[in-house]
Parts: sequence; C-alpha cells; structure tokens
Amino acid sequence: MRGLDAWKPTDVDSWTLAKWASFSSLGCGGKHLEAALSLHQASSSFQQCEAALQTLITANHILHHQKVLDAYGHVSFRHPDNPEVFVMSGDRAPALVASSADLIEYRVVDSSPVDPNARKGYQERFIHSEIYKQFSDVNSVIHSHSEAVLPFTMSGVAMQPAFHIAGFLGTEVPLYDITDLYQPEDQQDMLVNTPKFGASLAATFSTSQPSGRDSHSVVLMANHGFTAVGTSIKQAVYRAVYTHINAGIQSNAIILRNAQLSLQSGVSETKIRYLNEKQTMGSQKMNDASQDRPWGLWAREVEVSPMYVNRDASR
Ligand SMILES: [Zn+2]
Repeated sequence: MRGLDAWKPTDVDSWTLAKWASFSSLGCGGKHLEAALSLHQASSSFQQCEAALQTLITANHILHHQKVLDAYGHVSFRHPDNPEVFVMSGDRAPALVASSADLIEYRVVDSSPVDPNARKGYQERFIHSEIYKQFSDVNSVIHSHSEAVLPFTMSGVAMQPAFHIAGFLGTEVPLYDITDLYQPEDQQDMLVNTPKFGASLAATFSTSQPSGRDSHSVVLMANHGFTAVGTSIKQAVYRAVYTHINAGIQSNAIILRNAQLSLQSGVSETKIRYLNEKQTMGSQKMNDASQDRPWGLWAREVEVSPMYVNRDASR
C-alpha cells in the first residue's frame, strides 16, 4: 500500500489529511490507495467511510438513549470498502463510544480482529460475523437485551406487530433458543460467543414462509434479548428501536385486554387485533421510506446531550 505521504495533495486540506490518517487505521480509503487510483477516488472513498464510522458512533449513542442498549448490547456495520470486514466497538458500554479509536475491525470469516494487537472486544461478536456471512445484503446488525422485549422471549407469548411503525416485524418473529446446542461441559451463560452458536442464530433469520419476505428482520433470543438486521445502520437502528417500542405497546394491550376480560362477561372478541400480513408488508415499505425522520430526531437528541461524546463528528 502506498503511504499516506505519497498522497499529500494540494486539493485536500490539512484537516482532511489528519482525519484520513486517523480513519485509515480502520481501512478507510485503503481500497483506492491500494489500487493506486486517483486521489479524488481515494478521497471520496475516505469521506464515505468516515461518514459510516461517525454514523456507527451516533448509532451507539441513540440505542442507549432509546433504552435499546444499556451497558450491554452492540451495533456493527459491514465495512463499505471491504464486505469481508465488519466494524464495531471494543469492549465498552455503547454510550461511552467516543471516537474511531474505540472501534475495531473484524473479519467476517471468523470474527478475528484485523489488527492482531487490537484490544479486547465483545464476546458476542459471532452474532455479527455469522449473520454477515449468511446474508450478503445485511450491512448492519444490532444485538439488545431490551427489558421490554425480554418477556416475549420466555413467556410463550409471541411478539406480534402491534402498529404500523413496526410493520417490518412481519406476522412471525422467530424465537432462537440456545439450550439444545449446549454440551454438558459448556458454561451455559446464554452468550452467543462461538461460531456454532452464531451460525445457528443467523440461520433463524431465514424464512420459508410464502409471504414474500426473504428473511426476518428481527429474531428473539430465549431468556436473552433480540437481534435486528438492516441493509444500513439507519435501518437497523429504526428496527431495533421500534422492536423495543412495539414490545411495550403489545404488553400494555395484553394487560388492558386481560383487565377487560376480568371486569365484564360476555366479551364478544377474545383476541387482540394485530397487523395482518398485507398490512405488515405495506407498512414495511412505509417504514423504509420514512426512517430518516426519526433518525434526525434521535441524532439531535444525543448531539445536545452532554452524556454522549463524538470527537470525530465536526471539524
Ligand atoms: Zn447478549
């Protein structure tokens, strides 16, 4: 690879070069530098990559602010310059991710860090690598232990699409159970921390339903949480946040319905009404077309909160 000095240009300012030096450690612009393409191409690639890394940092903050992630859980994205690599934070609370220096590149093939000297990462990064391996159209993965979602992973009550903003859920949200995969000698801590566990979870995203859906957007994980996927970071964040919100709405509907049943006899309809298949398909299209609006709100909320630091966000 040509060194950065070889590209010291006259049409890129010193700030951009400094940022380039910072982000190039995460492969930004590397594809074009390696191919010795034009400075313009390398610079454009760098800027796209830099924007994706900053979006990943913002996503960490949004998911904490929206109570989808707490000290645990994580978000990743597939590297825009190299689909065989994904990027996520090292082992720290998502709210405290503050710069590209907190991010680590991993190989999709085996979840090994690209930098052999990388610091400690999340144990459950195999969730991410195995999903990227099985689904080439997935570019972002989020894993959450949402308090609102957890009751649906242990109660036998299936998660259903309660409202149109959660149409992406479809009419079936699968439940992954790691229990049967354990060997007697395993530490049964529920963590998806091996390729075997990750591959099994990833396979649960496949659907054989004649519904027109190629795969599920969200999979629940028994006594653990859920995982959501998207073709972009924004889409994955949208789905994770509204999975969490949908769970709260559905729980409240169940509580109200049970209260009504206990207060009066002769109730004509005993089932709660959820979106039907056609309504989920239509709503999902609307969801995908409108995700920029909530993202703008959520990004502004974390931008003005002193809780969250993004050192690379502005010049
Ligand atoms: Zn977990």
